[in-house]
Amino acid sequence: MSAKNPFRLILLAPLLVATLLLGGCNPKAPPPPVEVSKSGTEFEPPVKVEQIPKQAWYCDMGTVHYARHEKGDGKCTLCGMDLTQAPQ
Ligand SMILES: [Zn+2]
Repeated sequence: MSAKNPFRLILLAPLLVATLLLGGCNPKAPPPPVEVSKSGTEFEPPVKVEQIPKQAWYCDMGTVHYARHEKGDGKCTLCGMDLTQAPQ
């Protein structure tokens, strides 16, 4: 009777480890949103577009190195590219 218990633990241990690893490193977890100031914020290193607040204006180069709340002249102050507005 007592021989069954260690066998069960051996079967469950890898499952438990896998569950902990997947829970601790979930690729579907969204990146944390970033703060954007009214006059403009530079991001070093650049952040992802999904992290930009809704309706903020940002420089889209795949990643974002500059964003602000107002359109202004519509150009990135760092590289001069046209700014894109984040969807609502
Ligand atoms: Zn730029």
